[in-house]
Amino acid sequence: MTNSDSRLAKNTDFTIAYFSAEIGISSQLPTYSGGLGVLAGDHIKSSADAGLNMCAVTLLYKEGYFKQRIDEEGNQSETFPRFDPYPMLKKLPVMFTLKLRNRDVWIQAFEYRFKGITGHEIPIYFLDTDVADNFHDDRVITLRLYSGDKDHRILQEAILGFGGIQLLEKLGINGSIETYHMNEGHCSFLTLGLLDKFNNNEEIVRQHCHFTTHTPVEAGHDHFAKKRCDKLLHNLLPDNLNLPSLVQNSRWHMTELGLYFSRSANGVSKLHGGVAQEQFPEFNIGAITNGVYHPYWVGKEFRELYTKYFPDWKENPQQLLNIDEIPDKELLYMHQSHKHFLLGYANSQTGKALSEDVLTLGFARRAAEYKRARLIFHDLERLIEISEGKLQIVFAGKAHPNDRGGKQIIQNIVEDANRLFGKVKVVFLENYNMWLGKLITSGVDVWVNTPLRPNEASGTSGMKAALNGIPNLSILDGWWAEACRHGENGWAIGNPDKADDERDAASLYNTLEKEVIPAYYSDHDIWLNLMRESIKTSVQYTAHRMIQDYNERYYSKK
Ligand SMILES: *Cc1c(COP(=O)(O)O)cnc(C)c1O
Repeated sequence: MTNSDSRLAKNTDFTIAYFSAEIGISSQLPTYSGGLGVLAGDHIKSSADAGLNMCAVTLLYKEGYFKQRIDEEGNQSETFPRFDPYPMLKKLPVMFTLKLRNRDVWIQAFEYRFKGITGHEIPIYFLDTDVADNFHDDRVITLRLYSGDKDHRILQEAILGFGGIQLLEKLGINGSIETYHMNEGHCSFLTLGLLDKFNNNEEIVRQHCHFTTHTPVEAGHDHFAKKRCDKLLHNLLPDNLNLPSLVQNSRWHMTELGLYFSRSANGVSKLHGGVAQEQFPEFNIGAITNGVYHPYWVGKEFRELYTKYFPDWKENPQQLLNIDEIPDKELLYMHQSHKHFLLGYANSQTGKALSEDVLTLGFARRAAEYKRARLIFHDLERLIEISEGKLQIVFAGKAHPNDRGGKQIIQNIVEDANRLFGKVKVVFLENYNMWLGKLITSGVDVWVNTPLRPNEASGTSGMKAALNGIPNLSILDGWWAEACRHGENGWAIGNPDKADDERDAASLYNTLEKEVIPAYYSDHDIWLNLMRESIKTSVQYTAHRMIQDYNERYYSKK
């Protein structure tokens, strides 16, 4: 036995297998596209800190998600630099095949081990079809994240679901697993892999699975025509399942498939849990609000500050509830340092000379219609009128390469920014990723979120901001619907009963004019209190708390 074999053999006691189509560990490992992947990475990191016996499975996208460029007119273009997995990942000595498109496709696996703060490790297995023995068409299956058409997507999800179950079997670590946690429907084929393994006993599969749904938005729920799946995966699929979408519409609805085979399921905020329950009334759906991995998302200066006053804040984030012990001056100084880093970077990239003395709003997210990135530009005259040189805005966000609508949003933001030239400074920073995410969510003064309620299932960037003492100014959607205490830890905008661009924008302008701007410029005590209350709020929205919830409610077989 080689060294690695004996190490593999030792790891036979995993009780949780966490599956996700994307996992974001850091920006050096570009195997994530946005919120879902970053959340998955945070989930794994906190599980390691909590000492859970977990392993994780995902795909290796060697051309990851893309690198974004935006020209002066706001046109997004993409490049796909290939990353070399070897310095960070270890190739495992296992290879196996899956029959796709009527031929054997070789799959190899790489391993990344995340070590938690107590030294406990969680292995993440990355599946890869870029193997010399494969046909070109098969080598590219796992090459890029969310690329290609539906067929491509079916093949990727088959590698993840069926391939993932096979991998665990090959590694000899499937025997002890009590919970297969599906992070969204992309991994639902794993249930059919298990069905095969458990001799078609649906009840046994159901005893082993938990499902998390992440969005009410229809486009976020994959469904594939039965005909296409039969053609691509024929011998992998059972033919007598009693799934409504399969029986009635001849399609595999991946969320329904995951829910059907799960003993329990959840949405990702209290509000979203209810929305998801209405979406899928035939299943029982609970709620665990998302959280962020606080040791990662706290900016450098705050990290040092927290460590100075609360030596165990990483193990025990509740210590941050004592934030009042940190003197005003230090808190402000550290925040200004983060702002200095961000604006220094922004100015080097854009030449727009943002000022460190001006109230800086931040907005960074995927360019999706429901996020309404341009709500703040709804009435440019009004924005200019309330701003009077007292506001500047930092934007970032990617549009999926095939998403014309998303690209249009970015272009319009840049056009609005150009219209505001000389009146309100607006910068759009390219290539939003985890590194830039941390820089922005720790370096602006106020975090803005203006989704069309209730489409933002949770939202996590606002939690990152709060952790860095940055108050949220947001529609009462997702996590903010439960976290907001207006005027204390941030502000609520919009009418929760009925979303309306016109009125939501008016609410945003009024709140900026009458509450945010005066508090920032004229009342130090109010502002410091907002910062402190944001940090205290964030304790409830750490992945530390989230993992405790999952562990207590969903990771123990009832
Ligand atoms: C946190 C994060 C997200 C998710 O933020 P939302 O508020 O949920 O949109 C997306 N992308 C990156 C790079 C992030 O760091």
